[in-house]
Amino acid sequence: MRFIFSVHSLYFRQVKKAVLVFFLIFNYALAQEGEFPVCGFDQRLREQIKENPGLLERISAEPEYSARFKMESAVITVPVVVHILYFNSEQNLPKQQIESQIAVLNEDFRKLNYDTVKIPDRFKEFAADPQIEFCLAQFDPEGNPTDGIVRVAVGIEEIGATDKYYRASTGGSDIWDPRYYLNIWVCEIDGKTLGFAYLPGSTTANKDGIVVDYRTFGTVGRLAVDHNLGRTTTHEVGHYFNLLHPWGNEEGCEFDDGVSDTPLQEKPNAHCPDGPRFSCDNAPLGDMHMNYMDYTMDRCSNLFTQGQKSRMLAALNNYRETLYSSTGCTGPDTSTNIVERVALFPNPNSQGLLKIDVLLEKEQTADIKLYSIDGREILSDQRVVKKRVLEYPIDHLQSGIYILNFVSGSYKSSMKYIVIQ
Ligand SMILES: [Zn+2]
Repeated sequence: MRFIFSVHSLYFRQVKKAVLVFFLIFNYALAQEGEFPVCGFDQRLREQIKENPGLLERISAEPEYSARFKMESAVITVPVVVHILYFNSEQNLPKQQIESQIAVLNEDFRKLNYDTVKIPDRFKEFAADPQIEFCLAQFDPEGNPTDGIVRVAVGIEEIGATDKYYRASTGGSDIWDPRYYLNIWVCEIDGKTLGFAYLPGSTTANKDGIVVDYRTFGTVGRLAVDHNLGRTTTHEVGHYFNLLHPWGNEEGCEFDDGVSDTPLQEKPNAHCPDGPRFSCDNAPLGDMHMNYMDYTMDRCSNLFTQGQKSRMLAALNNYRETLYSSTGCTGPDTSTNIVERVALFPNPNSQGLLKIDVLLEKEQTADIKLYSIDGREILSDQRVVKKRVLEYPIDHLQSGIYILNFVSGSYKSSMKYIVIQ
């Protein structure tokens, strides 16, 4: 018996191994059996709320965006830089796979996805075209041509689960100026988390972007079996534009996502529900489990709502408006910008505040840098201006001569600046 048992056991182990090999070859499984992998957004949001309680108030309310809100604005194209952080060669995703993800974003954020036909009738009227498009950056922050992909061989396993991914000095890849680029780091996270993102204005600028597990990125190549249509990135970009999960920032019926046309929902839905799921007295509509911001599988999620579109465009206008003036997709504006006035005052200065009076013919990015006479960079700023007085505190400077460089388009000016303390 023991012998037979052993043979059976060996046979079983071999079959099991064969099955395992089959799955390893054709897809990835993320998380343990019985669990489903999740988005790491809520956990990070809780940590941020602990540090900044005002954040909770801001995200719980319907955003106050009416004053500056351009609902019918033209389609925006957001430049994307994809940082591929690979610990081994299979994590070094080919360009075709990266491009397939950008294509998914361009479908999902324009309501051009093939599966809009699967939106249930009861939710069809809510489905929206958010009018947001994406390009792999064509020009880097210095204005040099690029393919929008940065590849870094990393020496840290599961670097996405650490705080090292967004800095070259800690073994990751430096963020590109998040005012002008959507940064996506694609790497191994922890085997349970599909991705995570930060709400606009909720984290330090040096990690403002999204992180996605390499097994969920794009639609071609080796991908996790239920996350192989690029919807993890769609979901995380939703967070990047200020969307919460449909159940709000905590589970339970007392929390909401600040969007009026997503039904109140108690908690995440997983897998692929084949009919209405009810919670929080939300009959007859039920949970909108096919919303991109729920946890259902890629093939079972297919819409953003009009309310979510409003919230995303409000975020664009309130927190991410610099994306409108990014030249990451189009290249630097080299057309002549007539500079009516760039003046430093007071000069000489003994008042602790450097002021630059700027008047340009049109709104354009300007680079402002202040150097000491021996060439040390004292101050560096980049902003979009047309007519404005820019102010910089300089009370920490010693008396002496400094050089201020002002560059906008083809205009360059170097001005002598004297500080008397
Ligand atoms: Zn999420």
